Amino acid sequence: ISAKNQITERVLQEILQQNKQYASQGKVADYIPELGKMEPDAVALSVVDTNGKVINVGDVSKKFTIQSISKIVALMVAVREKGEAAVFENMGYYGSDKPFNHFGNLEITGKPLNPMMNAGAILTTSMIEGDGEIPFQKILKMIRYITNNNTIDYSKTVYLSEKETGHRNRGMFYLMKNNGLINGTEDQLDNYFKQCSIEVTAEDLAKIGYFFANECVRFDGDATYKSTDLSKLIQSQMLIAGMYEFSGEYARRIGLPSKSGVGGGIAVCVPGKMGIGVFSAPLDTHGNSVAGYQMILDLATQFGLNVFLP
Ligand code: GLN
Repeated sequence: ISAKNQITERVLQEILQQNKQYASQGKVADYIPELGKMEPDAVALSVVDTNGKVINVGDVSKKFTIQSISKIVALMVAVREKGEAAVFENMGYYGSDKPFNHFGNLEITGKPLNPMMNAGAILTTSMIEGDGEIPFQKILKMIRYITNNNTIDYSKTVYLSEKETGHRNRGMFYLMKNNGLINGTEDQLDNYFKQCSIEVTAEDLAKIGYFFANECVRFDGDATYKSTDLSKLIQSQMLIAGMYEFSGEYARRIGLPSKSGVGGGIAVCVPGKMGIGVFSAPLDTHGNSVAGYQMILDLATQFGLNVFLP
């Protein structure tokens, strides 16, 4: 990024204004009833630049649930506790042409395809040590650390809404129990529902993107969890499965490790450089924010952020 190509609030404002219209092409998730109440018009874009400086535009204070973006933090917590080999003993590094809530290989090999789809994410969270709510608390604590934002908490109403209607997730949980991958009680599934219900802003997501893009060093330089290897693992999973069955095309168009959630957020890593966070609730058929995707595409194109560029 050259000096004359500085990412400024003005540039981000332009990108937001030019792309917010795309929200009308998407549809707010309503398979979790509580999510259906989200405002379709709110749009936010946040960047944590190479110096760790935060630039926010749009509805920056708008909170939404993190949903599947929590999976990358859960993976971090599990790998730090158990080691990568143990976490991936019963799970693949595969990409997939199937949606996030697909059973994948569960019925064939007995094992989830990857930790980014629901099955693998439920398994990942079940591997974090501690009874009851402790594994969820560890994930929440890590998100608070990464964002340096202790006000972050989960939405009880979204959690209960997911718990009540998450029958596919419950099905996967019990199939994995049947296959001997999960031994605990349904508390473990609850922890997954709770982690998905954590409320964040686009700025929080940009800080999460920055963290995994920069060897797990926080935007303010705190290096307590510094790990080049862990950041490589997380970013590789984001690249091949973070946008679900759209991941391949997304890698072609944008070329940045990214993780979406059905709350309308996307966290993006610009490896070794920056973090980007976007929010717009209406989703495409894959469950990815439509206006969010367009803003990232514009930003990546204008500033040459694609990792496959020389
Ligand atoms: N909580 C959501 C679910 O389990 C997460 C899915 C997502 O964000 N893609 O269905």
